[in-house]
Amino acid sequence: MQPSDVSDPNHWLQTASPQEKRDRVLKAIGGMPAELREIFEQTPVEGIHPESHVWRDIELDSLPFDRVILVGDAAHAMTPFRGEGGYHTLIDTLLLGNIFSDMNTGAKFKDPAAVREIIACYNQEMLQRGRKAVQDSRNPWKCRVSWAGKPLVVEMVPLSDLEIKLGNGVY
Ligand SMILES: Cc1cc2nc3c(=O)[nH]c(=O)nc-3n(C[C@H](O)[C@H](O)[C@H](O)COP(=O)(O)OP(=O)(O)OC[C@H]3O[C@@H](n4cnc5c(N)ncnc54)[C@H](O)[C@@H]3O)c2cc1C
Repeated sequence: MQPSDVSDPNHWLQTASPQEKRDRVLKAIGGMPAELREIFEQTPVEGIHPESHVWRDIELDSLPFDRVILVGDAAHAMTPFRGEGGYHTLIDTLLLGNIFSDMNTGAKFKDPAAVREIIACYNQEMLQRGRKAVQDSRNPWKCRVSWAGKPLVVEMVPLSDLEIKLGNGVY
């Protein structure tokens, strides 16, 4: 089966009206439970954008371990194609929950050096796991097919890096 090319000006996604796109989605999700349909049903026709979304991600090598702790997309935003961003956010917060509980029990939070060491350890694991997920999410079609069983035909186009400034440098 030939994969369809959405960049082709004759592709249905290029020629269909927003109303036609909405109708098609509503038909496709017709069999889903109401709580999963709700987000689509409440999207108005004027909420359907004609242009494609440009996804950017974040690949951080290191973070300061001081008064700010990052979790989730703030540290490892990724494309949604593997559906993993929320999962890693959850892992971050579960790990941090354990860390805080441990710091409280042992009263380690009173020792700034111990707190820094613990947060440095959290940052290292979180960034390593996050970076891997960010990289994997750029190439989902290498190991995956779409939910319709067809190869994903999206092509990643590397964009130039954006400069990231963390706060104003005063922590
Ligand atoms: C289309 C799409 C599909 C996805 N599908 C999946 C999936 O199937 N499975 C999965 O695991 N993940 C999925 N993800 C990823 C997942 O949604 C994110 O990784 C996750 O929501 C990140 O959580 P977060 O708390 O870090 O950030 P967010 O959920 O973005 O939360 C940040 C919050 O901070 C608020 N905020 C921002 N700036 C300020 C400010 N200055 N002051 C106060 N509040 C502020 C925002 O309004 C927002 O509520 C998907 C993402 C997208 C875009």
